[in-house]
Amino acid sequence: MLPLENTSPAHICPYDQACSYLEQAAKELKLDQGILEVLSNPSKVITVSIPIKRDDGQVQILVGHRVQHSNILGPCKGGIRYHPAVTLREVSALAMLMTWKCALLGIPYGGAKGGIAIDPKRYSAGELERITRRFTSELMKDIGPNVDIPAPDMGTSAREMAWMMDTYSVNVGHAVPGMVTGKPISIGGSRGRDMATGRGVMIIVREALKDKGKSLEGVRVAIQGFGNVGGAAALLLHQAGAKVIAVSSGAGGVYSESGLDIPALKAYATGNRKSVVGFPEAKPISNSELLTLSCDVLIPAALENQITEENVNQVQAQIIAEAANGPVTLQANLSLESRGVTVLPDILANAGGVVVSYLEWVQGLSYVFWDEERVNREMEHLMVQAYRQVIEQSKKGQSSLRLASYSLGVGRVAQALTDRGLYP
Ligand code: NAD
Repeated sequence: MLPLENTSPAHICPYDQACSYLEQAAKELKLDQGILEVLSNPSKVITVSIPIKRDDGQVQILVGHRVQHSNILGPCKGGIRYHPAVTLREVSALAMLMTWKCALLGIPYGGAKGGIAIDPKRYSAGELERITRRFTSELMKDIGPNVDIPAPDMGTSAREMAWMMDTYSVNVGHAVPGMVTGKPISIGGSRGRDMATGRGVMIIVREALKDKGKSLEGVRVAIQGFGNVGGAAALLLHQAGAKVIAVSSGAGGVYSESGLDIPALKAYATGNRKSVVGFPEAKPISNSELLTLSCDVLIPAALENQITEENVNQVQAQIIAEAANGPVTLQANLSLESRGVTVLPDILANAGGVVVSYLEWVQGLSYVFWDEERVNREMEHLMVQAYRQVIEQSKKGQSSLRLASYSLGVGRVAQALTDRGLYP
């Protein structure tokens, strides 16, 4: 176990929750205790000091983490998060989730995650560039296209990935496009990556509705978060005929029973510092009201721990798609399961991003680049295949979709570990 101070209550500590889901899957799979011990612990934990010069000349020391949970199936893979709430335990939990997610999707990676506890809005572009380059430089020996491949996450984007790729490439003496994913197309990024996670959410919701004899047409959807993931999911669901009745960003949300005009809302948010607040022809709604709104599908696409013991009984949606990582707490999840609500778990519902990251890496390694139609087709195939396997596993084990997803992901990594054996 991580020798780290735990500052969150046990029931919402992301690392304890991740271990709890792992233990449930291990029980289902009747895993050997030694294998469970290996899988419960990250394979490498790196913490670095990042001294940077602020624009006013002062020196500030930041702390950066990179946790590599597993390299059993292939190189480690996972995002870099810039957010004030980043802790080593959170990064470790997200790294573990990435391991199961990649295995579930049949992608030859292990999980990793990194982060710095900063609010990027309080730093200039120049300061963020210095932070990112110094962080990359500190990690030089532990990252690379065959070792560990970062990607964007909350608070980072294609811009930070370009700085990471450049810093790494300058240090090794040649361009290495395969060392990060989610980078700009001009330096080897993949077409379709920007919409990939939202597209994956739309595909999984569509498949879940299909299994209930319904389609996306006219289905009433509420989405918390209107960033990279929530914004793309909203647009694609709207284009597919769903009625997106509410969306929110950090400062609050907007609601319209007849359905929001999502392209107009996107244009509005772009000119309003990414906030949807104040959008005309819609009523204001708070983030907490959005979660308990009468709707068919609820998509939390912002932060973890949003549906908790406090509000779970008021949640009215019959389908919840976890677009964010860990938006439903362990206890709330039990309550939703007992009420028969379909929870599409994060390691399945938000896997579209890592799938297209994998396709970007494949293109980068082969120096052959695909059109968007091919990227979307390959991604859809892997997402639908994983969804069907989860449904089959859930029927076989009479278990929730979450436990079925974990059982598949954990089971595949455990099998690989058994086949490889323990060195020495
Ligand atoms: P983002 O920073 O682009 O967007 C986050 C959105 O959440 C913004 O609209 C922001 O205003 C909103 N938000 C912030 N605080 C909020 C609050 N307290 N209440 C409601 N909304 C709030 O981030 P993103 O890349 O869209 O990531 C969102 C989630 O999806 C994270 O949990 C991330 O780990 C997960 N995820 C992202 C990807 C990806 O490809 N970007 C892939 C898999 C999972």
